[in-house]
Amino acid sequence: MSKLEHIILKNDLCVGCGLCETLGVNEGVKMGYNHKGFLRPQLGQTISKKLDDQIYKVCPGITLEADVPESEQHLYWGPVLDSFTGYAKDEAARFAGSSGGGLSAILLYYLESGQADVVIQTAASEKDPIINDAVLSNKAEEVIKAAGSRYSPAAPLSRLLPTLEKYDRIVVVGKPCDIAGLTNFLRDRTDLESKVVLKLAFMCGGTPSQSGTHEILQRLKVDHADLTSFRYRGEGWPGNVQAHTKDGRCETMSYPVSWGEILTNTVQFRCKICADATGAFSDITFADAWYDDGGGMPSFDEQAGRSLILARTDRGLQALNNAKKFGTIQTDPLAIEEVAKMQPYHVLRKQLVMSRLIALRLGFRVVPSYKKLRLREAAMQAGIKKSLKSFLGMMKRVILRKV
Ligand SMILES: Cc1cc2nc3c(=O)[nH]c(=O)nc-3n(C[C@H](O)[C@H](O)[C@H](O)COP(=O)(O)OP(=O)(O)OC[C@H]3O[C@@H](n4cnc5c(N)ncnc54)[C@H](O)[C@@H]3O)c2cc1C
Repeated sequence: MSKLEHIILKNDLCVGCGLCETLGVNEGVKMGYNHKGFLRPQLGQTISKKLDDQIYKVCPGITLEADVPESEQHLYWGPVLDSFTGYAKDEAARFAGSSGGGLSAILLYYLESGQADVVIQTAASEKDPIINDAVLSNKAEEVIKAAGSRYSPAAPLSRLLPTLEKYDRIVVVGKPCDIAGLTNFLRDRTDLESKVVLKLAFMCGGTPSQSGTHEILQRLKVDHADLTSFRYRGEGWPGNVQAHTKDGRCETMSYPVSWGEILTNTVQFRCKICADATGAFSDITFADAWYDDGGGMPSFDEQAGRSLILARTDRGLQALNNAKKFGTIQTDPLAIEEVAKMQPYHVLRKQLVMSRLIALRLGFRVVPSYKKLRLREAAMQAGIKKSLKSFLGMMKRVILRKV
């Protein structure tokens, strides 16, 4: 049996990025939904040892290793050269964007200034509004159409190789794991490295199952077959779920209900032991620059969109500065200490990874190889009570064979 099946899939370590599809399409590897509603490689035939070794080497589900020395990384946010809040100057992009459309604003700059030929991003499928497609955009309207988060499985890397063959200057947008997978792949294929001119990620609380979206539809009393379009967020900040139907209805659900009560409960296992949920392998990471609700937690009251922006590399920082001069983005300085107030859950997530990994190891489970990500130090900050609770929680799952 291949390592892809025996190690990655058997231990539920797949993130669903689609990298193995692009590498193995000629050997019948294709992403499809499993019984839990997650995108996983479906193997049409036994794959060759050469392909299996190649996939195992670059799969972000099993290997994450930072380039930047740990001493130069922020404990929770990874490599950061500068931090900002910001938003797209184009009103349509800011409105359509999940937070402030900051990410789309950088894409608009790269395409309009002629620095990129194409962007790989994720958008609702033309055939089924609750399915995500990896799409190639090279026009402003396509970027704006694809803006907004899709809180369900998406495999943006599934189109990577043909895009690299066809174009010379590509921007890739993805979740932290998608961008880590891309980075692993480019380390292996240094001949293609210069073709990826920018890597953009957003912070990620985990990929929910497709079943989460079905539950939203059920609660809204909307038939899947009646849908004409489906958005999770955006068109405001945070913006609502919007389910448009053939008979002209638009049923909505707020972000705290859709994410907080439904989607978050369906997040895939691998995301619970994610060591990089904040996009450390990107040039720039975007997130929600939540305001304080007055009690030290993020406020989800509707406001004009605002993105949190971390410039991680020289290339990323230069892109932000140039996009600001070009006029597609507004950025304002943000002290790095403020990020934890906007993203408290990500502080906790990183603190708890180590205790969960220890529980899995004690249960003889295979865990990903994480290197140079400051996990030990983050765990030290959690304190004994939180770490023990998280350890016991994972141990219980192991004993009950839930993982
Ligand atoms: C599953 C998921 C979990 C998230 N968790 C967090 C979180 O914990 N904290 C936080 O601050 N933000 C989170 N976000 C990101 C947040 O919602 C915004 O995407 C981020 O603030 C950037 O907003 P923006 O307006 O700048 O981006 P936009 O201008 O709206 O651009 C978003 C880009 O992301 C791409 N995209 C959308 N969905 C996906 C997907 N599923 N996979 C790959 N690419 C996609 C789009 O194609 C688009 O290019 C999450 C997003 C997703 C999809």
